[in-house]
Amino acid sequence: MEFEVVIGLEVHTEMLTASKMFCGCANRFGGSPNSQTCPVCLGFPGTLPVINEKAVELALKTALALNCKINKDNIFARKNYFYPDMPKNYQISQFEEPLAVNGCLTDTATTNNNKIHIRRVHMEEDVGKLIHAEGRDYSLVDFNRAGVPLLEIVTQPDIKSPAAAYIFLTNLKTILQYLEISDCNMEEGSLRCDANISLKPVGQEELGTKVEVKNMNSFRAVRLALEYEVIRQTLLLNGPEKVNLVQETRLWDETSGKTFPMRSKEEAQDYRYLPEPDLLPLKISDQFIEKTKDTIIELPLARIKRFIDSHQIPAYDAGVLAADKNLADFFEAVVRLGPEPKMVSNWIMTEVLSILKEEKKAIGELNLTPESFREILMLVGEKTITAASGKEILRLVIQTGGNPKDLVAEKGLTQISDTESLEKMAREALAQNPKSVEDYRSGKKNALGFLVGAVMKQSLGKANPKMIQDILLQLLDAV
Ligand SMILES: [Zn+2]
Repeated sequence: MEFEVVIGLEVHTEMLTASKMFCGCANRFGGSPNSQTCPVCLGFPGTLPVINEKAVELALKTALALNCKINKDNIFARKNYFYPDMPKNYQISQFEEPLAVNGCLTDTATTNNNKIHIRRVHMEEDVGKLIHAEGRDYSLVDFNRAGVPLLEIVTQPDIKSPAAAYIFLTNLKTILQYLEISDCNMEEGSLRCDANISLKPVGQEELGTKVEVKNMNSFRAVRLALEYEVIRQTLLLNGPEKVNLVQETRLWDETSGKTFPMRSKEEAQDYRYLPEPDLLPLKISDQFIEKTKDTIIELPLARIKRFIDSHQIPAYDAGVLAADKNLADFFEAVVRLGPEPKMVSNWIMTEVLSILKEEKKAIGELNLTPESFREILMLVGEKTITAASGKEILRLVIQTGGNPKDLVAEKGLTQISDTESLEKMAREALAQNPKSVEDYRSGKKNALGFLVGAVMKQSLGKANPKMIQDILLQLLDAV
């Protein structure tokens, strides 16, 4: 039997605020254990939480960017469960009246405008972190993360394949980074994702049995875990015994590349949600919504579309550039100075990206202004220097912060483009390589490449290669 895949995602992201969700402790990764704690986030009796306004603003900004309906009356709730990383024995979250509902994210950058609906966006607090050190019969706990503002984004079961889930997550991550909601660093746990997946016979309305998959530490892992589940569930449903799937939570194991059922005692219990009595309902005013709306800049998918339409660069280039806001800003700053956009994008995507990768840096940390970059491109475009020299100058500018024109003069890299000198060099090359001349004339056309190479070598790489080729051809065909 053929099946349709139905996937829904639940994304948790830590928000980039200065302080925690309900107290004044610093929200910072990497501090020494339990150095960023206070009686509120340690759950001491008698303490009172206070809502972090910046966290509400960032959550609202995300909800607006995802085209959600905003709830003006927000209620925080206690989600009760017992676990040693959470000293209050409840987590403050939102349940019945979340911040926002009914949104959608349309992938305008792809041709099919694939739309994923957002069920809800709500705020909550993160819990502490347990450290199970090897060879010890006890665990350690670090409460620095307890109370860090979290945003939960839940999609409708709209996603039709593991690959589509991967694309959605990538799009969402870029939005969160553009709006400076989160650094989305998955290694540090600031972006986490769980997935629900079920299969149903093609054409059937009713959804199949849902399996929740957890413990995926990268978008790639999400895709692999979902691909594994599609195969596992298909085999079970199509098996000779027609095994009925059970609704369960499974954990992804990166090493074996498989999912395993979570032990039943780790299964989620009834959370007995109840309204948080220590917090008043949070009212979101129209004025606050309007003010927040004004801070939403052009989002990545819209930017990709604009890059394709107005700069006429290929969709692939636009996608690579727009994936990093600062890189996209740099591209536009250079284009505004005049060079042809496709040339700018080529140089960024090959040279600049490989330098960034080598040096493990972001574009902002590189010693390169849009002005110097434009100048290098102009020197190459006007054939003052060869493309190879341009690449050398780019690296020198980054290393020394020097001016491209000065560096070209200093290194003597000015391209030789006067016909007289080039012709002289070409004649010499022909005289020194009679064998290649003979080969060329007997039909071995690739001998020309060798001769061009000989002139380039003699000119120390400064000869204009196109002109050399033309001159050599003229001389070879003349006799
Ligand atoms: Zn605190």
